[in-house]
Amino acid sequence: MICDNCGKNRAFERKMTHTYGKGKGLILIEKIPVIDCPDCGEQVLTAKTIKEIENIRRGRDKQLKQRFVPVTQFA
Ligand SMILES: [Zn+2]
Repeated sequence: MICDNCGKNRAFERKMTHTYGKGKGLILIEKIPVIDCPDCGEQVLTAKTIKEIENIRRGRDKQLKQRFVPVTQFA
């Protein structure tokens, strides 16, 4: 798809994992769709995606309390 930033047609959608907030408010969201452009390095979240993230963060205490566990790696 076309990159909004540089106009080249090499951007593609991929899923990424991102953490928001910190301390007790920390939340890890997996499979966030981002538009990734290899030419200019731009990563764009659509307005719909941003809104959905806001909804997830707002509803975190109700919906995700049971599921949320700190994520780390066994080195
Ligand atoms: Zn670009």
